[in-house]
Amino acid sequence: MIKLVIIGTGLAGYTLAREFRRRDEKSEILLITRDDGSSYSKPMLSNALSKEKQADDLVMADTEKMSENLKAEIWANTTVHSIDANAHSLETDKGVVNYDKLVLANGANTISVSFEGDAAEQVLSVNDLADYRKFRSELEKGKRIVIIGAGMIGCEFANDLLNVDAQISIVDLAPHVLNFLLPQQASVLLQEKLAQRGVEWYLQNSVTHLESAEVGLVVTLNSGHKINADIVLSAIGLRPSIELAIAAGLATDRGVKVDRYLRTSHEDIFALGDCAQVDDLTLPFVMPLMTSARALAATLAGEETAVNYPAMPVALKTPCYPVVVCPAPRKLDGRWEVEVNEQGLRAIYIDSDDKIAGFALTDERVSEKTALAKEVPDWLV
Ligand code: FAD
Repeated sequence: MIKLVIIGTGLAGYTLAREFRRRDEKSEILLITRDDGSSYSKPMLSNALSKEKQADDLVMADTEKMSENLKAEIWANTTVHSIDANAHSLETDKGVVNYDKLVLANGANTISVSFEGDAAEQVLSVNDLADYRKFRSELEKGKRIVIIGAGMIGCEFANDLLNVDAQISIVDLAPHVLNFLLPQQASVLLQEKLAQRGVEWYLQNSVTHLESAEVGLVVTLNSGHKINADIVLSAIGLRPSIELAIAAGLATDRGVKVDRYLRTSHEDIFALGDCAQVDDLTLPFVMPLMTSARALAATLAGEETAVNYPAMPVALKTPCYPVVVCPAPRKLDGRWEVEVNEQGLRAIYIDSDDKIAGFALTDERVSEKTALAKEVPDWLV
C-alpha cells in the first residue's frame, strides 16, 4: 500500500487515478487541484458553443462524485505551493501533506503577451472551465471577436463562433494558419473555407494596442489597421507548467523531464500530461496522456511499465473544413509531398531518410487517417 498524491484533476490526473484504482483497490489516493475539481473533457471547450453548452453542461461529474468513483480524497480549490522532494512532502493552502509517490499532472499555462493601451487587460484565453464560463458571459455583450493566433485552438474557436453568428477576425504573425503543422496548400484551403464563412484574416500581422471604445474596444494592428471588437481571445498557445518542478530541483526543459517510465529526476516523483516532456517530446494532446496514464498506473502499482507512443493523429474541430494532422514530433529536415483531388488534400511528410514521418489530410480524405497512421513509425518505441 502506498500514499499516492496527484497534483491536478484535468484529464491527466483523473485518468491516472482511475487507471491506478483499477489495479490497486487499497492504496490511499489524494488529488489536489486549484480549480473546483469538476471532471470535464477539455477538448469540448472549443466546440461547446455550437453544441449550445454552458460551462455547467460540460461537467461530467463534480468533486464529490469523482471522490466516490475513485475512492479517493480530492482537495479542490487548493493550490500546491512547493514540493520538498527529499522530505516527500508538499506545502498547500491546507497545510503540509506527505506522500510516498507524487505525480505532477498540473498541465500548462496560457502564454500571455503584453499589449499597449487601457484595455490590454481585457484579453481572454480559454484553457479551463472557469475561463470558458467567463468567455460565455462576455459573449452576452457582443459577438465581434478578434482571435489572436491562427493555430489549432484559434481555428477551432473561429469555426465554433461562426456557428453562433459571430463576426471573426484572426490575427497572426505567421503567413498561414497552422504554419508549423500543415503544408502551405492545406493551410490555404482551410483559410479559404473559413474566409467563405466570414472570417477576416490579418496574417503576418500582430496586435499592438487595445483601447476602450464607447462600445467594446478598438484593436490596433502592427499594420496600423484598426478593428472594432467586443472580445479579444488569445489563442497563441500554452507552455507546460514547470515552476513547481524547477523550485523542487527537478530536471526541466520545455516541460518537466521524465523518462519512459514517466519518472522525473527524483525517483518518487512522476509527471504526465501537458506539463511533461517524455524523452524529448512535449505533446499537449489527449491520446498521449491517456497512453501515459495506463503505463504509469501499472508502474505505480508495482509493475514497471515503459510508455510507448504510436503515431497519434489529431483531428481539428473545424467542421467547415475537416483537417487531420499527424505531425512529425521531432524537427526533421524533410519535405511535404502533396496531392489534391476533388475529395480533398493528402500530404505526406517525408524525412531526410526518405521515410514517411507524418501526414495531413483534409475534407473527405480524413477517412484515410487510420490506414496512414499505421505507416508512420512509432514516436516512442
Ligand atoms: P489540465 O487539464 O490543464 O489540468 C491541470 C490541472 O492542474 C488542473 O486541475 C489545475 O487546477 C491543476 N493545477 C495546476 N497548478 C496547480 C497547483 N499549483 N496546485 C494545484 N493544482 C494545480 N487535445 C486533443 O487531443 N484533441 C483536441 O481536440 C483538443 N482540443 C483542445 C481544445 C482546447 C480549447 C484546449 C485548451 C486544449 C485542447 N486539447 C486537445 C489539449 C488537451 O485538452 C490537453 O492536452 C489536456 O486536456 C491536458 O490535460 P492535463 O490534465 O495535462 O492538464
